[in-house]
Amino acid sequence: MHVRLFSAALLILACKTQPDRSMEPPRPIPVTPCPAPAKDDHLAPVTAPGVSQVAQLWRAGDGDLAAFALEQFIVEPAARDAMFLRLQSMVEQVRGHNLEVQRAAKWVSEVEDGKPVPPVDQLLAAYDPAAHVIDDLFRTRVAFAVLLNFPVSSLADRIRDAAKLDRRRWAELRLTRLFDTRIPGELASAASAAEASADQYIAGYYLWMHHVLSEDGKRRFPSGKHLISHWNLRDELKANYGDADGLAKQQTIAKVMQRIVTQTIPRSVIDNPHLDWNPFTNKVTAAEAGTVEAGAPADRATAPSDEREPDVRYSYVIAHVKAQQAIDRFSPVAPTYIARAFEAAELPEERVRALLVEILESPHAAAVAKQVEQRLGRKLEPHDLWYGIEGARTAEAELDAITRKKYPTAEAFSNDLPRILTGLGFSDARARYLAGLIVVDPSRGAGHAMAAERRGDKAHLRTRVEPDGMTYKGYNIAIHELGHNIEQTFSLYDIDYTMLAGVPNTAFTEALAFLFQARDLELLGRPKPGGDHDKLRVLEAFWNTREIAGSALVELDVWRWLYANPGATPTQLREATVRIAQGTWDRYYAPLLGGRGSTLLGIYSHTITSPLYLFNYVVGHAIAFQVEELVAGKDKATFATEFERVCRLGNILPDQWMQQATGKPVTARPLLDATARALGM
Ligand SMILES: [Zn+2]
Repeated sequence: MHVRLFSAALLILACKTQPDRSMEPPRPIPVTPCPAPAKDDHLAPVTAPGVSQVAQLWRAGDGDLAAFALEQFIVEPAARDAMFLRLQSMVEQVRGHNLEVQRAAKWVSEVEDGKPVPPVDQLLAAYDPAAHVIDDLFRTRVAFAVLLNFPVSSLADRIRDAAKLDRRRWAELRLTRLFDTRIPGELASAASAAEASADQYIAGYYLWMHHVLSEDGKRRFPSGKHLISHWNLRDELKANYGDADGLAKQQTIAKVMQRIVTQTIPRSVIDNPHLDWNPFTNKVTAAEAGTVEAGAPADRATAPSDEREPDVRYSYVIAHVKAQQAIDRFSPVAPTYIARAFEAAELPEERVRALLVEILESPHAAAVAKQVEQRLGRKLEPHDLWYGIEGARTAEAELDAITRKKYPTAEAFSNDLPRILTGLGFSDARARYLAGLIVVDPSRGAGHAMAAERRGDKAHLRTRVEPDGMTYKGYNIAIHELGHNIEQTFSLYDIDYTMLAGVPNTAFTEALAFLFQARDLELLGRPKPGGDHDKLRVLEAFWNTREIAGSALVELDVWRWLYANPGATPTQLREATVRIAQGTWDRYYAPLLGGRGSTLLGIYSHTITSPLYLFNYVVGHAIAFQVEELVAGKDKATFATEFERVCRLGNILPDQWMQQATGKPVTARPLLDATARALGM
C-alpha cells in the first residue's frame, strides 16, 4: 500500500535541485536543518536517508523530485516487502536474460565448431547488451525508487553492521549497491577510453628477444621469440631455470624489466626486430640483415636511436587518475578510486595492507629462500623472485593418454559428470540434479565457466578438446571450471535471496574451483600425489604469493602518492614509482635476493591496464589456503556437504562468509601455517 506523504522536508529538498547540474558534483543536501512539521516527526527517520540518497544522484532532467518521492515512497512494511521481492525478481530477469543474449552473441567466437570465426562474429563478441542497464534504470527512475525505499551503505557501514544484519537486509544492501554511484555517461566513457588505450599500449609492448643481447653482447634467445611485457617475459624467465644458458638469459630479462620500469629503455627497440639492443650498456645497433625475422613489420626499420621511452608507461596511469578523479564526485559511498577498488573487494585497505605485510614479513621467507638456494646451487639473485619450484607439477605425458581415451569429445565429458560428482562425494540425487543444470560445450579457448544468472537457465562449462581427445591439461582445467559451475549453481538455485547469488568476490570462486581441481587425479582413479609433491606445491604458492604481495604493496603506495599529488606529471610519477619500488625491494627482498635498489616490483602490466587489482591475487591465495583447510583430511561425503553449505552463503561480506564457512575472518594464517609444515617446522 502506498502512503502519500506530504512533508515540508521533501519540498525543500526539491527546491534545491537546480537546472542542469549533471556535470557538477552532487551537493550534500541538508535534510535535518529543515524544520519539518511536528506531526511528521515520527516519519523523519524513515524518509530522510532515502530522500537524501535520491537527491545526491538526482539531476534536473529527472523531473520533480518531490512529486517522485511522494509517489514512490512506501511506508507500509508489507508493501515494502512486496516491492523488494518484485525488484529482486526483476534484477534476476534482467541479468539472466542479458547474459543469455550475450552468450548467444559470443557463441560462434567461443564455442569450437572446427571452422574459422567469421569477421562479423568478432564484432558480435564485443557486443554487451547489459552495458547500459544501470543507466537505463536511472533514466526510468527505477533506480531512484530503490534508493528512496532501501538504505545505501558504505563498506565501513557494512563492516560495522555485519553481525546485526539478517540475510534479508543483506539482500537489500546488494540491491542498493547497484545504484550507489551514478556516473555521467561522458565520464564513464572517458574512463573506458583510458582503459582501452592503456590496453592497447600494453598489447603492443613486445620485445624480439633474438635482438636483446646479454651482458657480454651475445645473442642468447632463438630467432622469432616475441615476448609481451610483462607476462611473457616472466614466463620465459621461469622457463629458463631448466636451461644451460638460463642464468645469462634470466639476468638479461631482469635488466629489460628494470629498463621498462625506469623508462630508460630506448623507445626504438620496442617491438622492433630491426635493431639489436644490449640492455646492460643500453647500446642500440642495426641488426644484421640475416638476423631479422621473416615477416617482421618492415615499417619498424629505422635508424638506431638510444633516445629513451619518454615516460609513456606512466602517462597511461596519469590518464586513469584523471578519469577516475572526475568520477570521484559522483560516487558518494566511495569517493576515490582507491576506495572503489577496496569497495569492490569489500575488504578495507588497512586489512589488505596488513595481510600483504604479514606475508612479506613472515620469517618463513628466509627458510624457503634457503631451500631455493640449495636447489639452485648458487646465491639467489633478484630475478629468483620468479623461481618456480620444480617437482611441484605433475608429469603429464602418461596422464594425457588416459584423458584422451576417456574424453574424446566434450560430450563424453558431459556424460561423465554424474560419475565425477559422485566421485567427489555428492549423493546420486544431488549429482543428477547438478549435472542437469550444467551444459558442456567444446571451447575454442583453454576453457571457462559461464554462470547462469536466472533460475531456469543453465551454467555452461567450456572445455577444450583437441581432435585426438582431451589432454590432461585440458582435463585439469575442465575440473577447475566444473568447480566454478557447481558453485554458481548452488549459489543461484539453492540460495534464499537471488540478490545474494554468487560469492563475495572472484577470489572466493577461484578458491572453490581449486578445491575441485586439486582432486582431479583421484577422479581419474590415480592416487593423490602426497609427500614431497604437496610440500613443494605449498612452498611454491608461498613464494609466488610473496612475490605478488610486494608489487601489490608498491601499487597501493603509488596510488596513495597519486592522490596526495594531484596534477603530477608522468615524469614525477615515474620517479615516485621507482622510489617506492626500490624502498619496498630493499626492505623485504634485498635481504634474501640481493640487488639493492632493484625496481623489478614495478613491472606488472596490470598496474598500467587495470590499476589496483593486484592485491586481489594475494587475497585470493590466502583465501584458497583457508578454504582448503576447511576440507583437508575430511571424507568425500563431508567434502560435498561442506562445499554445498559454503556455496549457499552467497554474496555477503568476505569476512562474514569466511567466518560462517571456517569460523575465522579472511586471514593469511592457513597459508603461513601450511608453509611452516612444508618446511618441517
Ligand atoms: Zn577459475
